[in-house]
Amino acid sequence: MDRQRQVAIVGAGITGLTCARALVEAGWQVRLYDKGRGIGGRLATRRTETGLRFDHGAQYLCPRDPAFAALLQGLATGGHVADWPEGPEGGRVGLPGMAQVGRALGQGLDVVQGAMVTGLRRAGAGWQLRVDDRTEAADLVVLAIPAPQARDLLGQDHRFAPDLAAVRYQANVTVMLGLDPVAPRPFATRRSEGALAWIAQDGTKPGRQGQPLTTWVVQADPDWSMAHIDLPFAELADLVAPQLLALLGADPAQLQHKAAHRWLYAQADRPLGRPFLVDDMTGLIVGGDWALGPSAEDGWASGRAMAAHLLAC
Ligand SMILES: Cc1cc2nc3c(=O)[nH]c(=O)nc-3n(C[C@H](O)[C@H](O)[C@H](O)COP(=O)(O)OP(=O)(O)OC[C@H]3O[C@@H](n4cnc5c(N)ncnc54)[C@H](O)[C@@H]3O)c2cc1C
Repeated sequence: MDRQRQVAIVGAGITGLTCARALVEAGWQVRLYDKGRGIGGRLATRRTETGLRFDHGAQYLCPRDPAFAALLQGLATGGHVADWPEGPEGGRVGLPGMAQVGRALGQGLDVVQGAMVTGLRRAGAGWQLRVDDRTEAADLVVLAIPAPQARDLLGQDHRFAPDLAAVRYQANVTVMLGLDPVAPRPFATRRSEGALAWIAQDGTKPGRQGQPLTTWVVQADPDWSMAHIDLPFAELADLVAPQLLALLGADPAQLQHKAAHRWLYAQADRPLGRPFLVDDMTGLIVGGDWALGPSAEDGWASGRAMAAHLLAC
């Protein structure tokens, strides 16, 4: 394929960034658009004005594919990733937060942040993207966003719509809590316990020292999350916080910070089963973690496969 053609990638999470890096390395012209203020998507870190930091999306990366392990090793050498000795075996985390993984992968790429793509239509041999209130042109389009959002963008009549609709996601409510004084144990639970699926002391991750409070990240289980997803953030935090205090045997007065986040599309529990959907005639390719599974590595694998497909055409 002609490498002078302009590629637009919608979504600068690990899928889009991986695809972009491979194309740029091959000399292609690539621009990424992401509606977020930062990049990295669900590899996310929330910072507070009081100096607290919480990974409120992906908690850690545990490579299966040697090539993904090698990527993480390279990021570790560059100081962007480190082992989490207190965490699950083999788990690696961004330094000083998971968002650093996306930032490191995005270095040197042309990423337009705060750019919401709201429309996509064919124009001659290429594409027109509606980005906020302006129009951008591209020859090829890569959608690297959750399947339901790709379906919304393409429309219900698009030939990918049935495949995209068959993908199923679990929702997740994540609550971020700061306790005073420092509580000793790194984990309350890593498995489902009542409504809570994951309770970890985020501050035990490397690079998180020196925070004024002990930081905990609590993820509700998918059923609880879906049943409560529409509640205001403050209410979600109020519902979950007492459960953590009870588990830790902590006094309510120790709770000094609470906030919640909701992920409607957290992790795919019914993936597509192949790394992407492609229409070579129109120059459209669609992928994401949801194509292969629930983890960031699945996004990386999808992004890599999309780039390989485009480079081989
Ligand atoms: C709570 C939670 C816990 C998790 N835990 C783990 C874990 O421990 N380990 C693990 O490996 N994985 C975990 N995951 C999954 C992991 O985060 C994802 O698999 C991975 O980050 C997905 O990457 P992606 O690039 O496919 O999608 P995303 O990260 O969602 O990136 C998509 C990007 O597209 C942008 N976007 C969407 N629509 C548009 C639009 N119309 N215009 C412009 N931009 C748009 C978004 O802003 C986003 O930045 C977790 C996820 C969540 C939510």
